[in-house]
Parts: sequence; C-alpha cells; structure tokens
Amino acid sequence: MSVRRLVGKVACVTASTDGIGFAIARRLAQEGARVVISSRKQDNVNKAMEAFKKENFDIYGTVCHVSKSEDRKRLLDETIQKYGKLDILVSNAAISPSFGNILDTPESAWDKIFDVNVKAAFFLIKEAIPYLEKQKGSSIVVVSSIAGYTPMELIGAYSVSKTALLGLTKALVNPCQEKGIRINGIAPGIIKTKFSKALWEGGEDTDTKTASFAGCAMGRVGTSEECASAVAFLVSNDASYVTGETIVVAGGMPSHL
Ligand code: NAP
Repeated sequence: MSVRRLVGKVACVTASTDGIGFAIARRLAQEGARVVISSRKQDNVNKAMEAFKKENFDIYGTVCHVSKSEDRKRLLDETIQKYGKLDILVSNAAISPSFGNILDTPESAWDKIFDVNVKAAFFLIKEAIPYLEKQKGSSIVVVSSIAGYTPMELIGAYSVSKTALLGLTKALVNPCQEKGIRINGIAPGIIKTKFSKALWEGGEDTDTKTASFAGCAMGRVGTSEECASAVAFLVSNDASYVTGETIVVAGGMPSHL
C-alpha cells in the first residue's frame, strides 16, 4: 500500500474477524495503524490473527461481544494496555436475526437488533471518548447501511436500526467536536460477505441480477475493500474538515439527494 496516512495511529475495529470489519482492519493496518480486532468467538479472533500475522501487521485480537458491557470495557482496557492510546474507533458490529414482513418481527428480535446495532454502538462510543479525546485528530466511524436510507422490505427492523445510526452519527457531532473528535459513517450497499450471502450466492449472474434489482447503477455488488477505503479516508487527515457525514458506498443505489 503506497498510501500510509495512519502511521502512529491506534485503531479499534469491532466485528472485525470477517467481512467488512476484517477488510477495514486490514486497510487501516496497511496504512500504518496498529489495530485491535475483535468479535464474539475466540476461534474467529485466532483465525483472523493468523491471517494478519502473515502480512506482518501490528495487530492485537480479543473477544468482544459488543452488547456485553464487560466485553466492551475489556476491549478498551486491553487496547490501552497493549498500545497505550486510542486514535480511531470503528463501530461495525450489527445483526439481523429476523427475515420477513416487518409486521411479523417479534419483540424479542426488535430488542436484540436495537441492543446490538444501536445501543451497543452508542455505549462503545461513549466509553471510548475519554481515550479518543486525549489524541489529536482522533475520529469515529459508524457502519450504517444503504437500508438506513431506503428500508429493505424483508429486513425492516434491521433497516430501522441502521436509520437510527445515521441519526446517532448526527446527534454525536457536537458532543464529539467539543472534545476534538470527528465522527462519520459509511452506508454500504450490497457487499459480498457472509451477511448478505443469500443475495449474491449463485455466481456472477445472481450478483448482477441482485444489483440491478436493487437499482445499483454499477450493476454489481460491492466488496469489503471498497468499504474499507472509504473508512480509511474518513479516519485520515484527508478528512480533517469532514464530520457528521455518512458516505454511501453502494455503486449508485438510490439513497439521498
Ligand atoms: P459478516 O461478514 O457476516 O461479518 C460479521 C462479523 O461480525 C464477524 O466477524 C462476526 O464474528 C462479528 N460479529 C457478529 N455479531 C457480533 C457482535 N454482537 N459483537 C461483535 N462481533 C460480532 O458481516 P458484514 O457484511 O461484514 O457486516 C459488517 C457491517 O456492515 C454490519 O454493521 C452490517 O450491518 C454492515 N452492512 C453490511 C452490508 C452487506 O451487504 N454485507 C450492507 C450494509 C451494511 P463472530 O461471529 O465471531 O462474532
């Protein structure tokens, strides 16, 4: 990677043992950051660490289920113990346990979705602020979704939780700015990961059909790396005058004006 905008920075990326989070961690490391990765399962953390070690990145891994407050505390404590500071937080974890008509979404699913996708994101940000405010040029990125702008019919409750993250990013602009921290988001379209497997599985043909059905101008699904490069821009000094924004990374899917 010829662009190395993050040398000297320490980053923490949640849900980063696979998919978009893994690609974000990798990109930040390629740009020179020391990165703490995490997810719910130790096995997944171990596997991701093995992959990163092969590339000689300075990366530390730990278990963190974002909706468990003790896990969030341990994640931040271990980050400070290992690297002594925190410059960048990427809140990436989300779940979508319910599929179907929004009117059939049980209360238990609404609770779970909002607990992981929204409440945990807010509390992790709040808990990380005391560390981030100590560093010059620190910033936060929240991973939302195109579904936050235009709800997807079969994942309605998840879509609403992602709309809440667009609001959360805006609501936190001033409180973060008072502490010298920028906060932004990305809203990925349909990205080729396990999370969206049902939408692209079946080869290039399904991929193209899904993209055109979703109104994607570029006619293909996106990659995790294409999300990671937007995050790398947002946390770098190249985005020093950007805060409270969410960049849509969706190949031209309808989002907002
Ligand atoms: P993915 O490929 O399924 O990866 C999920 C990652 O999250 C894994 O590392 C998983 O590891 C971890 N994880 C799941 N629940 C967690 C929790 N409660 N706490 C901590 N880690 C957790 O998913 P993805 O597609 O990369 O999605 C990442 C983010 O992008 C999500 O916020 C999602 O809403 C958003 N997004 C995705 C798409 C898409 O099309 N893929 C589109 C728009 C937005 P463990 O199993 O070990 O926990």
